[in-house]
Amino acid sequence: MEKLVPDALVQALKKQKYHLVGRHSAVKRCKWFYEALTSGRSCYKQKFYGIKSHQCIQMSPVAFYCTQQCLFCWRAQNGDLQIKWDEMKLPEWDSPEEIAAGILKAQGKILGGYKGNPRTIQERFREAWMPKHVAISLTGEPTLYEPLGELIRTLHAKGLTTFLVSNGTLPEKLANLSEEPTQMYISVCAPDEKVYRRVCRPQIGGAWTKLNETLALMPSFRCPTVVRTTVVKGYNMEDVDGYCKLVERANPTYIEAKAYMHVGFSGLRLGFDCMPSHKDVYNFALQLSETTGYRIVDEAVESRVVLLSKKEKPTRFDSD
Ligand code: SF4
Ligand code: SF4
Repeated sequence: MEKLVPDALVQALKKQKYHLVGRHSAVKRCKWFYEALTSGRSCYKQKFYGIKSHQCIQMSPVAFYCTQQCLFCWRAQNGDLQIKWDEMKLPEWDSPEEIAAGILKAQGKILGGYKGNPRTIQERFREAWMPKHVAISLTGEPTLYEPLGELIRTLHAKGLTTFLVSNGTLPEKLANLSEEPTQMYISVCAPDEKVYRRVCRPQIGGAWTKLNETLALMPSFRCPTVVRTTVVKGYNMEDVDGYCKLVERANPTYIEAKAYMHVGFSGLRLGFDCMPSHKDVYNFALQLSETTGYRIVDEAVESRVVLLSKKEKPTRFDSD
């Protein structure tokens, strides 16, 4: 089999509990999957949108590839741990069917580890064998995966909902998605190009312009859309008016402001002090609310995230 990245990277990812699927996809157990199974606590997306944490698969079809190298990212980036590979040298892709089957298998393997664990909540354990949701968000830029629309369609055909998180640098891919996700996130982590280059460190030319093209495209989506800002203390919390202009262009259904968390490989790039408190995030969200007119409708203190919405109530996906 063609080797896509150095063995040292594969080993580093495995050490961080990534389950590699096929040649370039991955599943990782989310902290909240564990919490939901063992303590009954759930992630903020369950609180906001009804996504059940113990029935959620956190995955990526592009574990090694991205168009940005954000300072705050938890993924391994070229050069981390002195491991080098080309994050933009794309492979021949595994098919959507292979990836869908592979992530379900990997999730089953993860879940199998909870059998016999005295802390496992049995009812949740039984339910967890029937995943309902896929978060295409783990790592990498998913729009680099050529047949992304087909992957989304394949997952939907299996009765799964999908949340897609993109950095918006490939507007032509988003414009031509053959199937929309259930909900689409675009990361907007800078109010202007200068901050964008410093914080998101694009690896392709014209990335800021492309992100702005994506924002202009967002109103054409039928699914709920989200502008997601990862807030990093000392880096991107100024110039709320700049963010407001970007939000106006995107006219998203929601805005999520979320604190940078000092986890994964981000610790190689940023210190603990770059994590804003929930109060910091709330104050940032409050300023956004005042400038954009979006209302603060929910928050999750533990995850340091605040939800702003233009709708009275967010659409929930737990109606059954
Ligand atoms: S929606 Fe996100 S945070 Fe919640 S369980 Fe799934 S991957 Fe984890
Ligand atoms: S766009 Fe996402 S995956 Fe890529 S470096 Fe930034 S946070 Fe990480």
